[in-house]
Amino acid sequence: MIRLIPHVKDVVFGAPAERSDRLMGTHVYQRVYGLDAAHCCELARAEISRLEQLWSVFRPNSEVSTLARQAGLSAVKVAPDTLAILSQARSLHEFTDGAFDVTAGPLIELWRSAAARGVAPTADELDSARALVDGASIELHEPCKIGLPRAGQRIDLGAIGKGYAADRCIAIYNQHGIRHGLVDLGGNVAVLGGKPDGSPWRVGLQIPGRERGDAFGWLEVRDLSVVTSGNYERGYQVGKTRYSHLIDPRTGVPLPDDAFSVTVVHASSMLADALSTALLVMGPQRAYEFALEHSIDAVLYDAGVIQLTPGLFSMFGA
Ligand code: AMP
Ligand code: MG
Repeated sequence: MIRLIPHVKDVVFGAPAERSDRLMGTHVYQRVYGLDAAHCCELARAEISRLEQLWSVFRPNSEVSTLARQAGLSAVKVAPDTLAILSQARSLHEFTDGAFDVTAGPLIELWRSAAARGVAPTADELDSARALVDGASIELHEPCKIGLPRAGQRIDLGAIGKGYAADRCIAIYNQHGIRHGLVDLGGNVAVLGGKPDGSPWRVGLQIPGRERGDAFGWLEVRDLSVVTSGNYERGYQVGKTRYSHLIDPRTGVPLPDDAFSVTVVHASSMLADALSTALLVMGPQRAYEFALEHSIDAVLYDAGVIQLTPGLFSMFGA
């Protein structure tokens, strides 16, 4: 093995560029090695910001806000990225038997307003919201038009957009000849290559409900994305019951706020993001079966019990 003295190492790999930004409602961290590293970080930041402008539910001029206004009226011309992510979201809805559904917004909103009132929604309210939630109803028209057939429908890309953005960052690093880089969008991690010294990147796995950095293990990865979805941090309370920020679109009821989390490892960060959410919605038992049936690499953490799919045995440490 060749040992490089630090000075030479810096000349060969370039000192890393590091950058932190607040984007897509979360903390975004980049660490990139190479001559063009700082420029690449800026390009990646601009790309995440562009996607945020297309998909933010808080911006009245975003494409998802326009789609919500035009629901039940007419199809909307959208950017190629929006067509791409919604076409994937539609397929994922079918693939996950409805557990993953980017049209779940009306149910999430109903439960949030119930939390504000302190009383669970009525059966009628639930029925009305459920009638609007249907991932299969998203209409994809060539070239680049999307329609939502029912007034009141809307799109929420909160469970897949950060993964899509991470893939775009890795593509930008690649295009600029970068061989070692990491981007972390609030726990949605994607890495290019390994670390410059040849070792893999180590991604910690957080214990649900604990402080950040309180980990039950880690995964060592190269050229992969690691995304965790957990029943914690962003939940709410209705009366005496605490719920998670995730909804089960098939029942219309939010998941319980318990100590269950799912981490998915995949070359596509978008799929890792969407599938970690979907497996969480399925619940521990079905999630493990589903992951094995479909060769999805996943770590399930359920109240202290860790389950790994076989593809991750060599990458996991504790
Ligand atoms: P994640 O942290 O990736 O699991 O995504 C959580 C976000 O996805 C939530 O804050 C909601 O905006 C949205 N969401 C909630 N339930 C679902 C669901 N069943 N399918 C897709 N998106 C959902
Ligand atoms: Mg997700």
